[in-house]
Amino acid sequence: MLIEKASLPRYKTCGGGLLSRARRLLPASVSKTVERECYAAELNFIQEGLHFVTRRSDPIIAMTMRAELDYLLAAEAQMMGARLVEGCSVTGITELAHGVELQTATGPVHAKFVVAADGANSLVARLSGWNEARNLIPALEYEVFVNDEDFERLRERARFDFGVAPEGYAWVFPKRAHLSIGVLSMRRGRVNLAGVLNNYLRHLGIKETKKIERHGYVIPTTPRKGQLARGRVLLAGDAAGLVDPVTAEGITFAVQSGQLAAQALIDCIFDPVSVGLRYQSLMAESILRELKAGRALAWLLYKQPRLAAWFFGKHGEALSEFVTDVVMGHKTYRDALRQPGSYLRFLKVWKTSMTHREC
Ligand SMILES: Cc1cc2nc3c(=O)[nH]c(=O)nc-3n(C[C@H](O)[C@H](O)[C@H](O)COP(=O)(O)OP(=O)(O)OC[C@H]3O[C@@H](n4cnc5c(N)ncnc54)[C@H](O)[C@@H]3O)c2cc1C
Repeated sequence: MLIEKASLPRYKTCGGGLLSRARRLLPASVSKTVERECYAAELNFIQEGLHFVTRRSDPIIAMTMRAELDYLLAAEAQMMGARLVEGCSVTGITELAHGVELQTATGPVHAKFVVAADGANSLVARLSGWNEARNLIPALEYEVFVNDEDFERLRERARFDFGVAPEGYAWVFPKRAHLSIGVLSMRRGRVNLAGVLNNYLRHLGIKETKKIERHGYVIPTTPRKGQLARGRVLLAGDAAGLVDPVTAEGITFAVQSGQLAAQALIDCIFDPVSVGLRYQSLMAESILRELKAGRALAWLLYKQPRLAAWFFGKHGEALSEFVTDVVMGHKTYRDALRQPGSYLRFLKVWKTSMTHREC
């Protein structure tokens, strides 16, 4: 059973950028919801005037609106036998001797297990006893309708701009007939992201807009500490904090963690003791290891802006190609970390030595 508090389709604050590695995990039918395919990605360090473009013969990012994408995925799940209950908030959870009872807006639901995929503000995680240890960062997403000339100019590439937001970046994701433009910051404390985004629109040369829809939400950039399974509850996606620390992209590991939760349940035939252990070990050897490996590059990008500009000035092309290979699913951060002489390995050593010096 798929329990969803909203009525589908619903708007979800998200760039809707489906990286090639995420698309591969999903049914082919998601293509119906793809509004544009970007074969080129642009990375700029605005203040230093550094500009890199990577290109691939397959789409690097497929641009979707989450309302349509998620609606289609829910329909696919129904076709495979799931029952969708929408407009139904989970409000409580009680562990029973042989299962779980979820209290919901439409009455109690009994299940053998719960995969909590209820997003960054996961109520199920909170009610099941997890403390908040994830780093939740603010992000804005504006749906911007511009004139034909500006749209023509910005519609071909996915664009990422550093040096616009403190410890963050801004992006332009072109959709069928409008631009999803957003910004995020890894800085703790107050950041005027709305002001940053308004300046960014000016920087992009967008002087007038026909319509802007403004949305904001949080992104968990670090996973929860300890176990991701407790009793009969498994955490997946943002509820677990599985966002790529470099790109802040979360769909890939949200999907993959859901698949690993299903695998653990099937492998262990719904046994309450072994499912959690199996899920933890599947997560530890794949997603959690990958998130950890990406942290050295994230540290450079977000915490050492001057060093990052210098590093990208010297090796920007190679690093942009590497990150493109990662989001295409052709390379992983953890493979790079294992390779002698790789940039990531070098960065990790650098990060460790600088952290020790700061201590
Ligand atoms: C501004 C912004 C831009 C982003 N851009 C991108 C991007 O371009 N590409 C990318 O890969 N990632 C992006 N992300 C991250 C991405 O949106 C998330 O990582 C991803 O959506 C996580 O999926 P999820 O299924 O875990 O949670 P969600 O997508 O948040 O889904 C949670 C679902 O649970 C439902 N729910 C919540 N509480 C309850 C409840 N109590 N009862 C019942 N249902 C409930 C919600 O209605 C929702 O449908 C972005 C995030 C932000 C904030």
